[in-house]
Amino acid sequence: NSAFSHVVRGPEDPILGVTVAYNKDPSPVKLNLGVGAYRTEEGKPLVLNVVRKAEQLLVNDTSRVKEYLPITGLAEFNKLSAKLMFGANSPAIQENRVTTVQCLSGTGSLRVGAEFLAKHYHQRTIYIPQPTWGNHPKIFTLAGLSVKTYRYYDPVTRGLNFQGLVEDLNSAPSGAIVLLHACAHNPTGVDPTFQQWEQIRKLMRSKGLMPFFDSAYQGFASGSLDADAQPVRMFVADGGELLLAQSYAKNMGLYGERIGALSIVCKTADVAGRVESQLKLVIRPMYSNPPIHGASIVAAILKDRDLYNEWTIELKAMADRIISMRQKLFEALRARGTPGDWSHIVKQIGMFTFTGLNSKQVAFMTKEYHIYMTSDGRISMAGLSSKTVPHLADAMHAAVK
Ligand code: PLP
Repeated sequence: NSAFSHVVRGPEDPILGVTVAYNKDPSPVKLNLGVGAYRTEEGKPLVLNVVRKAEQLLVNDTSRVKEYLPITGLAEFNKLSAKLMFGANSPAIQENRVTTVQCLSGTGSLRVGAEFLAKHYHQRTIYIPQPTWGNHPKIFTLAGLSVKTYRYYDPVTRGLNFQGLVEDLNSAPSGAIVLLHACAHNPTGVDPTFQQWEQIRKLMRSKGLMPFFDSAYQGFASGSLDADAQPVRMFVADGGELLLAQSYAKNMGLYGERIGALSIVCKTADVAGRVESQLKLVIRPMYSNPPIHGASIVAAILKDRDLYNEWTIELKAMADRIISMRQKLFEALRARGTPGDWSHIVKQIGMFTFTGLNSKQVAFMTKEYHIYMTSDGRISMAGLSSKTVPHLADAMHAAVK
């Protein structure tokens, strides 16, 4: 008799569970648009050329050893990551007011940041957008924060509910933490304009709300790393404090390397130093120190001008392919005369389209067309190709008719 016989089966993760179901389907036309992972026109995972080159450099360098990294990770990687987001001339970096620690991709960075806030910040409430990435509420709740939502998406316009957002942040208790998607909001593909960001910034600073930026798609929204960093840079430029979780999963295609960083921008270098000492106390009992390979790849690319330029070109090509898939899907629906206004497909940005399809329509498309996606109607545009667009358009047409 097992000591664990009382353990009940837990539910499959709503996003990763889509892949589990997809893998079980024997149909040759099946299509996985669930998980946000880039695929080529041929439907294959992509390792960037620049990553292959960097790995070759690492392999050839026999002076490299496999010793433990410090608790905070690879110092060079941390510096370069802060520079990538905050900009080469960021006063916050020059004044040593930023502490950056290497973490296990975006998820690990969010978790470490949340654990730090739960221990050392006076307000334990975090506001997350409605809707948001499904893992957010779980990460923050487990870290000991209390999760509330602010209005974000308007299903009628399939755009931003800016008035609702402003009202909800306005009525948040002063000092509350606010999670902001730095760009390419997941799952909606809807971002504030720069003017709206500026209003959000003013409102948050006037109420002393603490920004926690989640940047999982820098470069993926517009194709430009600097343009996508703009909202975060606006908040750093005013001299205020913030947290930032960065992931290299999507923009360098390093998903399985689990490489990312948590930065905390502080008012003074002295505070930043003390904050970093406490981050070490969060990390040490959790996983001791982070893995070395992914950080070495990222550092090799970011510090070398040629490799960096090559990366920006490959990144732009991924972003452009996704944008062309939006256009193709939109045109395919128009050609079929599919009822409804589908212009949001080309207006939304980043990896995902929030189609507006409901869970019943999604279930129909999975059953009849072997198309797999999350039940909220989100599709990963990065999983589409010219060959599969007609099949998806047929399925959507049949689902809404
Ligand atoms: N944040 C958002 C909004 C995401 O969409 C994702 C990935 O899908 C992540 C964070 C974290 O991803 P990872 O832990 O693989 O870097």
